[in-house]
Amino acid sequence: MILVTGGAGYIGSHTNKALNKAGYETIVLDNLSKGHEDFVKWGEFVNSDFGNYDELKKLFSSYDIEGVLHFAAFSSVAESVDHPAMYLKNNYKNTLTLLKVMREFNVSNFILSSTAAVYGNPEFTPITENHPLKPINPYGQSKLLVEKALEREKNKGDFNYVSLRYFNAAGADFDLEIGESHNPETHLIPLILDAAIGKRENISIFGIDYDTEDGTCIRDYIHVNDLADAHIKSYEYLINNNESNIFNLGNGQGFSVKNVIDQCRDITKMEIPVKNAPRREGDPAVLIADFNKINKTLGWEPKYDLNDIIESAWNWHKKINSD
Ligand code: UDP
Repeated sequence: MILVTGGAGYIGSHTNKALNKAGYETIVLDNLSKGHEDFVKWGEFVNSDFGNYDELKKLFSSYDIEGVLHFAAFSSVAESVDHPAMYLKNNYKNTLTLLKVMREFNVSNFILSSTAAVYGNPEFTPITENHPLKPINPYGQSKLLVEKALEREKNKGDFNYVSLRYFNAAGADFDLEIGESHNPETHLIPLILDAAIGKRENISIFGIDYDTEDGTCIRDYIHVNDLADAHIKSYEYLINNNESNIFNLGNGQGFSVKNVIDQCRDITKMEIPVKNAPRREGDPAVLIADFNKINKTLGWEPKYDLNDIIESAWNWHKKINSD
């Protein structure tokens, strides 16, 4: 069985669904601090904390776990700036506990939800995996510490990992069984869609004086199902090869905040009022992935573009706001 920590969360639940559809058996471990129990529609569910040593030991004794996909983490840059110790504890120290229990039970396959935030301000773009690692916020720092811990584990032997550095995950399950629902919501696309349905008055654009064509930040948006597919390919890679690796996951294309708002207007046919706001701390001007490495190594490529991302997010948004 595969243990999916954080499988009640956004990316974890989509990957959990994809794993089950691909024939894998899963156990979702989630303390529901951010996740949603009704997102766990596949596999078994255990409501517990991945940093709890005794609970983990019980779990690993009860199930035949072959690998761990580790999504559970705090993932808001802004929150990490306000609460760095909380990020260090949950994202890094608790993961060390998980790794310790994995070693005690000889479980040697691990996939990390990492982030483009490990790179910090890009020195070149698109960003390749060998770009310098200089995170500029505690969220990125906490994930980089985990990557270093994984490398140490690998060097001890009998352990392999794949670290997937996500760019901007977005979109929803096309069957609308699950989707993106953060509380509070901080991500651009769901906030724009809130403005589209009148749940918010407008969407704030965080900075219009960046050194980009229209002055707003450029990001690389990737559909959550493309992320899920990359996890399955990474898991197969771990099982079939005795090696570890680190991959970027993005679409390789950049869209400005204004581009995204315009495309949301096209798709929703709504007006979507905007408000210019100051820059948000810790936001680099441009983040675009070079995904050649995962393409060459695992044959992965993105199937969905920004239009698919926004359309699926919009369908999900309408569904959860009409229930
Ligand atoms: N952004 C914005 N207004 C918002 C939320 C986000 O202008 O209300 C911008 C943000 O500054 C960044 C981009 O949208 O340039 C994507 O932000 P998001 O929080 O979705 O993802 P992140 O890049 O932080 O992972």
